[in-house]
Amino acid sequence: AAPGRADSQLNVSLLPFGDHEQLLLAHDISHLNRLEQVRRDFVANVSHELRTPLTVIHGYLELLDPEDVPELAPVLGEMRTQSKRMGQIVEDLLTLSRLETQHEVADERVPMAALLATVRKEAEALSQGRHRIVLESTAEADLLGSPKDLHSALSNLASNAVRYTPAGGSITIRWQRVPDGAVYSVTDTGFGIPASHLARLTERFYRVSSSRSRESGGTGLGLSIVKHVLNLHQAQLKIESAPGVGSTFSCHFGPARLLAPGGSDES
Ligand code: ADP
Repeated sequence: AAPGRADSQLNVSLLPFGDHEQLLLAHDISHLNRLEQVRRDFVANVSHELRTPLTVIHGYLELLDPEDVPELAPVLGEMRTQSKRMGQIVEDLLTLSRLETQHEVADERVPMAALLATVRKEAEALSQGRHRIVLESTAEADLLGSPKDLHSALSNLASNAVRYTPAGGSITIRWQRVPDGAVYSVTDTGFGIPASHLARLTERFYRVSSSRSRESGGTGLGLSIVKHVLNLHQAQLKIESAPGVGSTFSCHFGPARLLAPGGSDES
């Protein structure tokens, strides 16, 4: 450890040096960890502080009746929409802060038949009949983890598919077994994503097209939340996409996260 610092963290690597020797490189990364902690606390505190004033503003806006002042009705409508949007951003930031500091998840049974039906219903409500939404569930398996977080991750992918697919397109939600676990995936026939953006898609507020994302009502935090929830469940996210053709977002869960439906543990 660095002199005088009991909490120092070192990144150590051994590099080949000449024919018979090795070079030991040690970087003190404790200051980076502390900065990261300060950033996390700051985001969590700001989000928390914004919650109450936003609730008050939102509450008063709901009380105002557009019929009292008809010429202000469009303004009032826009104010309500934006205050809801801000509220959603604050809630998503708080969720992300929680997920970032969490190291493990609850080991609860998550009944997949019910969860998939809910995800489909939510996607249908968002689509309002503009898309063909299909559910193909062939994996006879439930998940082990946090019901709330898995719901939010799986439904996020389905709602993105609806939001980034023009009317008339189709969306397929799948839950299927693979040799080393099970995969939940959402395939859409939407706008697709150019390859150059794929690696950064799960960064917070990263957007391929900010105008399209804003119009579609997202907070820019959805995929970041998905990535954290999957990490906590030791699951991997894979994104395949072709512009103008569509996208598939798949979540791969290992055998340790699977349970036989309604009964005993998987072997
Ligand atoms: P947002 O709230 O902006 O949708 P997300 O984190 O959910 O934030 O997604 C990040 C970006 O990834 C989106 O702004 C969009 O550009 C792109 N994206 C996500 N899902 C899809 C999809 N199914 N098809 C096309 N683009 C997508």
